[in-house]
Amino acid sequence: MQPRFEQFISEKQYLQNVTPATVDWYRHSLRWLCTESPTDADLKDVVFRMRERGLKPSGCNCIIRAINSFLHWNAMGLDVKCSPLCKHPRIMSMKEPTLVLPVYTAQQVKKLVGFRPKGFYERRMHLLVLTLLDTGCRIGEALCLHVGEVDLDNLLMTLDGKGGKQRKIPFSMELRKGLFRYTREFCPQTHMLVFGTRHGLKLDRHIVARDVRLFCERLRDALSLALKPFPRKHKSMETKPELPVARRGMFKSAKSRR
Ligand SMILES: [Zn+2]
Repeated sequence: MQPRFEQFISEKQYLQNVTPATVDWYRHSLRWLCTESPTDADLKDVVFRMRERGLKPSGCNCIIRAINSFLHWNAMGLDVKCSPLCKHPRIMSMKEPTLVLPVYTAQQVKKLVGFRPKGFYERRMHLLVLTLLDTGCRIGEALCLHVGEVDLDNLLMTLDGKGGKQRKIPFSMELRKGLFRYTREFCPQTHMLVFGTRHGLKLDRHIVARDVRLFCERLRDALSLALKPFPRKHKSMETKPELPVARRGMFKSAKSRR
């Protein structure tokens, strides 16, 4: 990596205290830039290469944001905030299509919830999927969750969110049952990770994201589920003490409804 890129990342890391995930993002994005002082033609070339490699507009924009951050720092330093008045070169972001993502239906979620896992690994994966479904949290947030951060009495869990922001979110009575049984059996101490390895170590979020996908694909074959993203919970629900009736109802197993 070019020395100027390294200096930019060091200043962001030590002076602005950006998270390790942001440092990785800068490193990954700046690889697309071949020179420390790019001309307009170089910047256009970056976009051409990204499109040739098959990146979607959203993926290109993610890289463009990091490169523009470097270009601003290169010209103005850290102290001045970037604005439209800046005269330094920059890459225009691409227009992204606004799509409605397909999500699981209540029927499919019911089948997913009703799955009966066997053994440690299957139980950990199933509980993780249920947690993602129930709370709408990010996979990285779930993997950092400690037993002591799960308040079973008040149905609240404290998550370490993106950008080092902690937040409390509610979960359902049904998830409480699963969390209680699993933590009592596999991670009884408060300092332990809920979704850690057998030896209590943290799992890699990219590997687990792939495993969740494979798990859902396997269930799709078994239960004819389509592989779709989980419905994201509305932001305002995070502060509400109770989940809406429809959502709680969705989580009930077929057995408890009878
Ligand atoms: Zn600027």
